[in-house]
Amino acid sequence: MGRVYNFSAGPAVLPEEVLKEAADEMLDYNGTGMSVMEMSHRSKAYDDIIKTAEKDLRELMNIPDNYKVLFLQGGASQQFAMIPMNLMKNKKADYIITGQWAKKAYQEAKIYGDAVAIASSADKTFSYIPDCSDLPIDDDADYVYICENNTIYGTKFWTLPNTKGKTLVADVSSCFLSEPVDVTKYGVIYGGVQKNVGPAGVVIVIIREDLITEDVLPGTPTMLKYKTHADAESLYNTPPAYGIYICGKVFKWLKKQGGLEAMKKRNEEKAKILYDFLDSSKLFHGTVEKKDRSLMNVPFVTGNEELDAKFVKEAKAAGFENLKGHRTVGGMRASIYNAMPIEGVKALVEFMKKFEAENA
Ligand SMILES: *Cc1c(COP(=O)(O)O)cnc(C)c1O
Repeated sequence: MGRVYNFSAGPAVLPEEVLKEAADEMLDYNGTGMSVMEMSHRSKAYDDIIKTAEKDLRELMNIPDNYKVLFLQGGASQQFAMIPMNLMKNKKADYIITGQWAKKAYQEAKIYGDAVAIASSADKTFSYIPDCSDLPIDDDADYVYICENNTIYGTKFWTLPNTKGKTLVADVSSCFLSEPVDVTKYGVIYGGVQKNVGPAGVVIVIIREDLITEDVLPGTPTMLKYKTHADAESLYNTPPAYGIYICGKVFKWLKKQGGLEAMKKRNEEKAKILYDFLDSSKLFHGTVEKKDRSLMNVPFVTGNEELDAKFVKEAKAAGFENLKGHRTVGGMRASIYNAMPIEGVKALVEFMKKFEAENA
């Protein structure tokens, strides 16, 4: 069997070119006579891999020199704790709740201090992004937290909140490298790479240097201090070495595609094909307010659970994998990350049209 069109929300599709290159280098990386999985993270060969990965990421995102790039473990979920442990100096932080991941981060922060939910879209099952132009930001808040792209619900902040001068912290797991970003607007940008960048096991944290201090909450483990990893350039202990190597290959691939401007154009083009169809279909419809639609995760329903299940089953048989919606929301969700070719989206829409005709 050949490769399928994989619409998984994460771990998700990776560029075929990257996978083939990794396969070619599996037994002998660059004349070292060993796999990257087998080499010391202190070796010259590995040092080149991690340094080049960081350099390419800096170039892609135009990361200023006063920001550190950290390659860590523990997934995005570990950041839910690391952020308050390292940043809650006043023991207060404001959270904008736009979905399950933001809510989890908020609940975790409550363990460490006074986390305040200053806005939420829970009233309409997180189908929109609240107006964040004039929120009751606390004077003594250490930061304002958002989940920029809501993987499960398919919404995206197209305008960043007005933080009234407070540090913005953003979970970008599912929109990482999908478009250009102005890093200077954030104190911390972080994401698990298994959505749009690489294999599970790596989380990338881009953090402004002045936020990296020894002044962390009492009891913060050494491994959970940003300073530990910043001082050691992500080599304090054994990093997720193979995963970082694959991320590095994806960065090279992105550069070859024309960088993040080009990715944004392609992602807009892909998403438009699917959203235009959803807007014209009599059977399928999107579940999100149009102005807040994500380019990466596209949830949709027929309005009939049995028909949804039938669609997912028949789509799978036709080579369209992982279209079932998140277990908490049902329906369908097509994740169309950077590595999903436009042909995949076009083929999905053709399949949906056929299904609609057959089930009218
Ligand atoms: C998947 C996801 C997470 C959780 O990631 P883990 O690496 O599994 O901890 C957090 N935030 C967002 C936006 C996600 O999509």
